[in-house]
Amino acid sequence: MIVELISVGTEILLGNIVNTNAAFLAEQCAALGLSCYYQTVVGDNEARLLETVELAKSRADILILTGGLGPTQDDLTKETVAKAFGKKLSEDQHTRERIEEYFKSRGKKIADNNWKQAMVPEGAIVLDNDNGTAPGIILEEQGKTAILLPGPPNELKPLFSEQVYPYLQAKADRVIRSQTVKVCGIGESMAESMIEDMITGQDNPTIATYAKTGEVHIRVTAGAESEKEAMKLIKPVIKELKNRFQEYIYTTNENVTLEQACVDLLLANDLTISTMESCTGGMIAARLINVPGVSEVFKAGYVTYSNKAKRKVLGVKQTTLKKHTAVSAKVAEEMAQGVSLLTKADVTLSVTGLAGPDGGTEEKPVGLVYIGCSVKGKTKVAEYHFSGSRMKIRESAVVAALTLLRQCVLEYFSEVTFGNGKQKKNR
Ligand code: ATP
Ligand code: MG
Repeated sequence: MIVELISVGTEILLGNIVNTNAAFLAEQCAALGLSCYYQTVVGDNEARLLETVELAKSRADILILTGGLGPTQDDLTKETVAKAFGKKLSEDQHTRERIEEYFKSRGKKIADNNWKQAMVPEGAIVLDNDNGTAPGIILEEQGKTAILLPGPPNELKPLFSEQVYPYLQAKADRVIRSQTVKVCGIGESMAESMIEDMITGQDNPTIATYAKTGEVHIRVTAGAESEKEAMKLIKPVIKELKNRFQEYIYTTNENVTLEQACVDLLLANDLTISTMESCTGGMIAARLINVPGVSEVFKAGYVTYSNKAKRKVLGVKQTTLKKHTAVSAKVAEEMAQGVSLLTKADVTLSVTGLAGPDGGTEEKPVGLVYIGCSVKGKTKVAEYHFSGSRMKIRESAVVAALTLLRQCVLEYFSEVTFGNGKQKKNR
């Protein structure tokens, strides 16, 4: 079953809006096991839209069109698709009533052109839109299907998920399932080289790596006749990935984030945490506090940006600051230990670094970051060299800190040791 996506709208062509509908629909179609070979963006122009629809009809079984279902003159998707499928438009009484109801319940007046949205191609399946006035439409003709959906994502997504997805699921002959292995503490090229042999010659399942800031996600995808069979194909590949990446895997659950994994680890070991941040300005605390239930483990988060604050709040020594400067392993160490004394947390994280763009020297370049992690008094400091914008450096530091936190806790409570070449200093 081949599907083709057509996004209608001059705004998309001009780059005024990003085509998030196509991204959403493409992912959904892949999950349904539908092959999608072409996506087209076309402006609000009848002749070019007709040409696009005719071409898509010649090479795909299912056309999904988004946008151009509104009440105005330039909304012409429905009329054009009806033309391509040789159908006339007629008024749908049910939709007319819904439009009336929609405006009445909002105390708004109906403009004359709103009735245009009650016109549907003959024989079409009409999908009620609970978030707007334009209904979705499914048109079937001689083995070809056109699915028309409104452009606004808050209308399109629920319509698709609730009504189109089940419709397509019944049509699709294969299911596609995937599982993701999430790795931290190893760079993308390193991760790829560790599974090069698995990636080459892959067929079903396929393996793809996605680089996130400081993380690598490896997605294993299989197609089969049933969900059970797809999962059976995925299972041994996940097992092999676990074998290769070991403790660098923080989850195999698509929905679990790195901060969630960190909080779970702290909870499992009955540990509390406090943070002390300089260049990340509270972003580590914010990421951890994103996790529901973090109150069980999170004690305090400090942002000590100036040297004075580092001294006053945390007891970082004046002599240390003078001798090593604020961006140094020694200061990161004293920060981690200071916050540990101050808050009596079992685990502490500290960050000091140069986020740039100015202020770098040859000896201490922009991107140099020291992260300290103390677990029950045992402190480790790691040195990092990040690149990119100020924000990118700060985001990289946050992920590195969460990664270090996870590694230090695991090392403290089990026999594992992490050595990825990034941590230059162990104390
Ligand atoms: P309306 O009744 O609002 O006119 P419509 O079905 O005619 O809806 P469009 O006029 O094409 O849809 O687009 C309306 C709005 O929906 C756009 O301004 C934009 O915000 C959003 N939108 C449209 N197409 C897309 C797309 N492909 N990706 C993301 N957003 C989109
Ligand atoms: Mg419109």
